[in-house]
Amino acid sequence: MAQFLAIKSDYADHLLFYRMGDFYELFFDDAKQAAQALDIALTSRGTHEGEPIPMCGVPVRTAETYLARLIRAGFTVAICEQTEDPAEAKKRGAKSVVARGVVRLVTPATISEDELLEGGRANYLAALVGQKGEVGLAAVDISTGDVMTRDLALSELDGELAALAPSEILYAFPDAMRDEAETRLAHIDARKGPATIAPPKGPKAAERVAGYYEVAALAAFGSFSDVETRALAMALDYLEVTQKGQMPKLASPRQIAGGGLLKLDAATRANLEIETTLSGARRGSLIDTLDETVTPGGARLFASWLSRPLCDLDAINRRQAAIADAQADDELFLFVRGKLREVPDLDRARARLDMGRGSPADLGKLKLALAAGAEIAERMRSRLLAESETKTKLAPPEANWEPVISLLEGHGAIIDTLTRALVAELPLKTSDGGFIQKGFDPALDSHRELASEGKTIITKLEARYRAETKLANLKIKHNNVLGYHVEVPARAADAFLAPPLSETFQHCQTMASAVRFRTAELSELASRIGSASDQAHARELELYGKLVALVQGASAEMMAVAKALAFIDVVSACARLATRNQHTRPKIDQSFAFQIAGGRHPVVESALKKEGAAFIANDCDLAPAYRLWLLTGPNMAGKSTFLRQNALITIMAQAGLWVPAKAAHIGLVDQIFSRVGASDDLARGRSTFMVEMVETAAILNQASDRSLVILDEIGRGTATFDGLSIAWATVEHLHNVIRCRGLFATHYHELTTLTETLAALTPHQVRVREWKGELVFLHEVSSGSADRSYGVQVARLAGLPAKVVARARGILQELEAKRDATPTAMPLFAEVETATSPAATESGAMTEVIDALREIQPDQLSAKAALDLLYEWQAMLADEIEGDRDQAAR
Ligand code: ATP
Repeated sequence: MAQFLAIKSDYADHLLFYRMGDFYELFFDDAKQAAQALDIALTSRGTHEGEPIPMCGVPVRTAETYLARLIRAGFTVAICEQTEDPAEAKKRGAKSVVARGVVRLVTPATISEDELLEGGRANYLAALVGQKGEVGLAAVDISTGDVMTRDLALSELDGELAALAPSEILYAFPDAMRDEAETRLAHIDARKGPATIAPPKGPKAAERVAGYYEVAALAAFGSFSDVETRALAMALDYLEVTQKGQMPKLASPRQIAGGGLLKLDAATRANLEIETTLSGARRGSLIDTLDETVTPGGARLFASWLSRPLCDLDAINRRQAAIADAQADDELFLFVRGKLREVPDLDRARARLDMGRGSPADLGKLKLALAAGAEIAERMRSRLLAESETKTKLAPPEANWEPVISLLEGHGAIIDTLTRALVAELPLKTSDGGFIQKGFDPALDSHRELASEGKTIITKLEARYRAETKLANLKIKHNNVLGYHVEVPARAADAFLAPPLSETFQHCQTMASAVRFRTAELSELASRIGSASDQAHARELELYGKLVALVQGASAEMMAVAKALAFIDVVSACARLATRNQHTRPKIDQSFAFQIAGGRHPVVESALKKEGAAFIANDCDLAPAYRLWLLTGPNMAGKSTFLRQNALITIMAQAGLWVPAKAAHIGLVDQIFSRVGASDDLARGRSTFMVEMVETAAILNQASDRSLVILDEIGRGTATFDGLSIAWATVEHLHNVIRCRGLFATHYHELTTLTETLAALTPHQVRVREWKGELVFLHEVSSGSADRSYGVQVARLAGLPAKVVARARGILQELEAKRDATPTAMPLFAEVETATSPAATESGAMTEVIDALREIQPDQLSAKAALDLLYEWQAMLADEIEGDRDQAAR
């Protein structure tokens, strides 16, 4: 207990898994918490300060499942092992305690076991360091060795973290940045906390990183900013602490240049359901629906493509071309996909072996992956050779497979060694033994022969004893306490306890139904067998160590193979997706075009397909002359679907994928903003309307003329007139000042008058037909505007009681009659309508002028005073127009 308490005091924040023989035991509060979280029995053992000590335990063999559940429940675990052989401890005295120490801290981002990880998902630790308003991010996935760094502004933090979806966040922000940073982190679903070790500064940070990578200077990998380097150093320090020196092998850090990416803020990602649906599920998200990869590494790369679409034409083109090639060369890529299906999670098996946490099964996975890679490379290489012989390029020019193929080649020696060494069915634990194949190592074979020969001799001895004693159910058995012994049923035992048999059989144990004996011959045989199998086991472990060292030595090559296989998997998966779902290759350039012919929503389409229903394709053209669409239509007509499908098509196109449309031409989009539907954010103290306005503000403040903005029902969370006014002003601002491409869906039919004054705003509608009093949803988008929302009809379809529907109809008729008879009864609309003359659209000065006009008494004004007023008003208006121009130019 003294040893336990001493160790526990250093790991107060973690559950302590305290190794005792075949179990990890937990004590005191740890035991209470774990027993509850795992639903296992809480017992007690001994007393401490007069109280029984609560205890629970989990078997070491199955500890991983329990660990997974504890980590998921939000705990972190310190694993405390016996660090010496109990026999060693005994030498110090019978009562001495086996030495123990914590060998590893298990936290969400520092796990590497397949049982604890999701195959298709990366598992990042995000280390964030703030400095002078800037943020450095280092993202490290120890389960694959992937390392990325990025410089970003505080305002980009939530968007970037939403794309990364880290399982753990570690941060260090100066006081001036902490509040905003913590607010932005509040919504990211990960374990997070301030770093306990402050990140090193300046040259110290660079030294730390260069030291880990064993390079003279970090510049070897690129030019990293100060904050990026500090973040990376902080991540490495954290790994050092949690891995207790068993540092994982990480790939060289890759810098993500924010400028090369299509920007998507956290709200847009959530609204478009890219990584997860609005309810937080991965099923039904864009990534989940489109993923056709067949390897875990491929799934992770595919998710990163869609989470981080590009803004770089060349890079987009290269991906598209590779997909085009895979689509065209059906035969080759059918073979490739077949082979890829045999590829296990190479990255993670390699990472475990590197960290000394691997198993024979991991060596087997490596062998399978390398062998499949070699076969794929051979087929792809022979196509390249055919190309050079016939001097015809079979693949499109931008699809350059050479570098990818060469990463898969040249691993014959490792494949050969592993193939010769390993048996087909490999155990998950080295202690199980029996994983090295016969014929690989002569020494191992001879130990094994002796051991197994011994077993045959024992069987023979058993037969001889049976014959000599005329007892057919005499058995030779083995257990850990007695070793080999002879067992006879109790009723036959008397003969063995008396001469002459007692001369050979020495009694050693009596049980209720059987009696056990030793014989000199058996003991001698047992010691021969025992030492042979011990030697076999030791030799097998030695060979395992050599194989692991061989693999560790080739760690960088293994990472490259994994990367190449993942790329090929993603490309062939995208090609298959395109063929299966009739996607087309979009044209992407530097123009401001946005022309989608026959576009479809990939997720809704796939859901409808499962029900046997068809999706209605729709065109969308946001050329500069009509770059903003005002979309009206009844409830349930398909407005939101249309809005989102165009955003998703853009994301797919800039991720390098083909798109669900007949044809698509998109001028590069720098940012997509989407504000769709209403949701409360009560956790952060924001009401529905507040969330809506915060998101709208972000759009109006950040969008550029290259952005794509989709707004669905802005202003719905407040009183009708307030909402309409906000929607009105927002459309004007998007049109006049931002001048971006955009889709604006609304039930405020009054807004359609704006299409008369704003040149590039065009009215569109999703059509329905009324047939015998029933609504028929056509889901067709066409020009023009809808005159009604058919809200009451839709409410009836939804099952509102007939009485309520009838009453609503009556009220609606009354309201409509009133509005038609006395247009002035709605003064706001009247005023707003007069305000649509171009000069007045956004004029605060005009309001002042009108107010002043209302106030003055012309009869009491001198001619000079009247003239002065005219000059003053003119100057005010001129100032304002000037101001607007400046802002528009900016
Ligand atoms: P509301 O105004 O009530 O929010 P909405 O006009 O935004 O409605 P959506 O939510 O986009 O309507 O669509 C309603 C349903 O109609 C979708 O769930 C989908 O099943 C179906 N739908 C939408 N668009 C199409 C389409 N193009 N083809 C087939 N079905 C569609």
